[in-house]
Amino acid sequence: MEVRPITVLAGGVGAARFLQGLLSVVPAEDVAIVGNVGDDLEVAGLHVSPDLDTVLYTLTGWIDEKRGWGVRGDSDRALERARSLGAEAWFWLGDLDIGLHMARMERLARGEPLSTATATLAERLGLRAQLLPVTDDRLRTMLQTPEGELDFQTYYVRRGHRDRVTGLRFDGARSAAPAPGVLEALREARVVIVSPSNPLISIGPILAVPGVREAIAGRGGPTVAVSPIVEGAALRGPAADMLRSLGHEASPVGVARLYAGLADSLVFDSRDAELAEAVREAGLRPHVTDTIMRNPEARRRLAAATLDAAGAAR
Ligand code: GDP
Ligand code: CA
Repeated sequence: MEVRPITVLAGGVGAARFLQGLLSVVPAEDVAIVGNVGDDLEVAGLHVSPDLDTVLYTLTGWIDEKRGWGVRGDSDRALERARSLGAEAWFWLGDLDIGLHMARMERLARGEPLSTATATLAERLGLRAQLLPVTDDRLRTMLQTPEGELDFQTYYVRRGHRDRVTGLRFDGARSAAPAPGVLEALREARVVIVSPSNPLISIGPILAVPGVREAIAGRGGPTVAVSPIVEGAALRGPAADMLRSLGHEASPVGVARLYAGLADSLVFDSRDAELAEAVREAGLRPHVTDTIMRNPEARRRLAAATLDAAGAAR
């Protein structure tokens, strides 16, 4: 398989919005996406891949922009029916979304790997970028909290990410193999971009798959990360609190330290410009720009600035 010039490590909403900008400045055919599967879960026997689906829906125009996930205008008749029949059904799934999970599940049940099933769904929805789950094997993010160890969706959705996170574990990671094409996409792409996703629970599980970290660290070409943290806060979700409770700085400097040895440049927000020297001391070349992706134009500009940063690092 031919390797595409740009590979992007992706979580969910932050990544999807960034990728939308990227696909407005480069052809989709030039982009491979390596996606997180640590958030995956089974709902009533259906395999759900929330991060892959957020990327897929965003890039094919189906996304519910306001929520950042799920299908725009989706109904929840199936869910309501299930609840009326006594199901707890705490994980919200829209009707059209369930259709996608059924199509995926049919393939998985036949023994197809997740990567092949994902490629088919992506092709059918018209995505021309390549969407690769980091692994076809089972990998699940587990969080240690005062309530005990929680699986990702129990922590995030069921309990509304209110628990203090004191530790992380990527169940299955050590025996997981990178999906076909993942290592090549990381080694041989002209540019690798780490999207503005949660470094601990969106990018962390990707890096936990044996060989992935090494493939990125050993690259000849540039690797650029984009900070999801602006002025000490996450734009959505628990990234800032989680960084702090796990002993990291909730700032571009903390992000830079996590990516030291992996990325050579960090794009972060102008509001944090005074941190440029500290980012440099952490070992990454600082690139300051507006990183708030409020609309398509802002997403496009951030993607363009990130590609510029990669050019400067060459
Ligand atoms: P999700 O949590 O699975 O949806 O996936 P991500 O980890 O990809 O997305 C959440 C992260 O994206 C959070 O840490 C946010 O701070 C970050 N994020 C969301 N919107 C923006 C934005 O407009 N700019 C930047 N720099 N980061 C963002
Ligand atoms: Ca996620």
